[in-house]
Amino acid sequence: MTDTASPAAHAPDGDELAALDRRHLLHPWTPMAGADPLVLVSGEGCEITDSYGRTYLDGRSGQFNATLGYRHPKILAALGEQAGKLMTYALLGASNEAAVRLAARLAQLLGEPLSHTLFCNSGSEAAEAAIRIVRMHHALRGEPGRSTVISLADGYHGTTLATAAMSASPLAWTGCGPRPEGFVQIAGPHGSGSGAADLERAVLAAGPESVAAFFVEPVLGVGGIRPLPPGYLREVREICDRYGILLVVDEVTTGLGRTGAWFAHQREGIRPDLVTLAKGLTAGYVPLAAVTTTTAVAEVFAGDPMLGGLRHGHTTSGHALGAAVALAVLRTIEEDGLVEHADAMGRLLLGGLTDRLKDLDGVRDVRGEGLLAGIEFDTFERAAQVAGGCLARGVVVRSEGPVLAVAPPLIVTADQVDRIVDALHASAAA
Ligand code: PMP
Repeated sequence: MTDTASPAAHAPDGDELAALDRRHLLHPWTPMAGADPLVLVSGEGCEITDSYGRTYLDGRSGQFNATLGYRHPKILAALGEQAGKLMTYALLGASNEAAVRLAARLAQLLGEPLSHTLFCNSGSEAAEAAIRIVRMHHALRGEPGRSTVISLADGYHGTTLATAAMSASPLAWTGCGPRPEGFVQIAGPHGSGSGAADLERAVLAAGPESVAAFFVEPVLGVGGIRPLPPGYLREVREICDRYGILLVVDEVTTGLGRTGAWFAHQREGIRPDLVTLAKGLTAGYVPLAAVTTTTAVAEVFAGDPMLGGLRHGHTTSGHALGAAVALAVLRTIEEDGLVEHADAMGRLLLGGLTDRLKDLDGVRDVRGEGLLAGIEFDTFERAAQVAGGCLARGVVVRSEGPVLAVAPPLIVTADQVDRIVDALHASAAA
């Protein structure tokens, strides 16, 4: 790490913030004991500065969301312009320009027949909305019995009651029952070795007429940065078609450039029925998430006898600040060629990690897609220790269980990729 200011000048702030953090913040998904948290106060490009004035390279884009880095001038300008014009206008019975334009742009990028977007505020909300949309869609089409949602046991789609019910992790449920009904998990293609056949087996066991949807991430994120094997998405698409089941692809982490494609599912040439987006949608500048459906799914809601529309949504669905930022993010990704850049930098990252870490003691696997890489260690402790070593060397990465995730902003340079690989190698070899 590099000192950008004298530690003495910052020490009071740093200590005060650490103490206030411990006393008042309830952190999501974070053990409460242990080292003081890293409290960030500013950022520029791929670098972030903490409350003691120490600057680090952000090797994980915050929580995989800061895809354009910090203080990006185009995004700041878009945010300021929208705030100065109309901070927002709610979409319940009305509309706002930024939300309209963003929905149209997403339809263009996702391609037909994906056409209609409902905006939410977090990835969890987008998945929750998708669950309600698929169930209501089937009910409106005369199949109210189609309510079961199938997902991968080590998938992750969120932290609300229903989205947590899609994961088999005891972390989601211990002491937090009763668990909502209607959720079935299957082994992922990595675990069982039988690939998509597990989905068909689960559909037949549940009764195809009771299954509403299958949810899947193209790269399991929380489940260990594991890309689905090639062909898996195509096979599950076929199974879903065979049994009248909707396919929901969760692109919250993988979408919008992260894997070196606009959307990871597009590499497989499949069309999901619904796609969820969050994180990179606004590059982390403001909260915004989306669930985009096909025209066929969306149109069914016009026939809802109670409302004649979708009975779901939020006051802040399609908040104009988020939508204006997202439009600027999409424009920047396109103008600056960041999908291609992420692909090139991703190859450099994965190549470097594979060459220099794969054969080290304690390293089980190096894998990933685009700028989303994972290093699996033999123990949780070893992964955490290596993340700590990187922090001491001025690079922020984080371990979850035995897997350490590396996902710098899409604007990362080749030199910065080298710095990340060097820090990981030095920490893992120590
Ligand atoms: N889906 C995936 C694939 C995710 O990785 C996450 C967040 N880690 C979510 C959904 C939930 O998003 P959020 O944290 O914004 O609720």
